[in-house]
Amino acid sequence: MTTIADRLSIAQHRIAQAAQNAARNPSEIKLLAVSKTKPAADVITAYLAGQRCFGENYVQEGEAKVDELAPAFPDIEWHFIGPLQSNKSRIVAQKFAWLHTLDRIKLAKRLSEQRPVAMAPLNVLIQVNISQEDSKSGVKPEDVATLAAEVSALPGLCLRGLMAIPSPISETHGSDRLEQELATMKMLFDALRETYASVDTLSMGMSDDLELAITHGSTLVRIGTAIFGARSYTP
Ligand SMILES: *Cc1c(COP(=O)(O)O)cnc(C)c1O
Repeated sequence: MTTIADRLSIAQHRIAQAAQNAARNPSEIKLLAVSKTKPAADVITAYLAGQRCFGENYVQEGEAKVDELAPAFPDIEWHFIGPLQSNKSRIVAQKFAWLHTLDRIKLAKRLSEQRPVAMAPLNVLIQVNISQEDSKSGVKPEDVATLAAEVSALPGLCLRGLMAIPSPISETHGSDRLEQELATMKMLFDALRETYASVDTLSMGMSDDLELAITHGSTLVRIGTAIFGARSYTP
């Protein structure tokens, strides 16, 4: 039976191997362990194996885990990676270090106002709807620059880069569609990095496509299933 510690180590090796194949330094790539639907005990297990960054998708579940774990493990860096409704923004502004799914100025302004002044600014990534499906969240590639300019002026936020959920590898196998999406993200990211000194993060790649994402310049991969096992429910 493989344990969370074993699977974490396998994920780290996959990242290191992919970085090496792409002639990149593995230390440029951050591993975010996606603990959504998994109990706090699993987060502690991964923590004790050395993992420090965790991602949550659902506000209520994420808040409960942060409240339970932050006092004993203050060096955990919490990332909110799910869709965020404006009426729940305060929880993210007060309890998380990062938001990966910023997609509108109204939400950005609320988060900036709600970020406690005693805390460092909330690190934000603009989510790009790279598969260009109406059903997917995120801004269109051509709207990234405008939102980035507005976000970069807000005192409670720190613009760190871009995030995308590309078309699933299982649906694009044998076509270049996924690779084209990843390459477009890299282009948008490089353009943004030239404009803003704070931009250093391209969040793309999950359990099934992390190698391809790293080939295309990802600096942060979000890994759930490959570390914690299959999710048994959706809250
Ligand atoms: C669930 C989720 C992940 C992790 O996906 P796995 O395939 O389990 O690695 C990554 N990013 C986002 C936005 C997610 O919702």
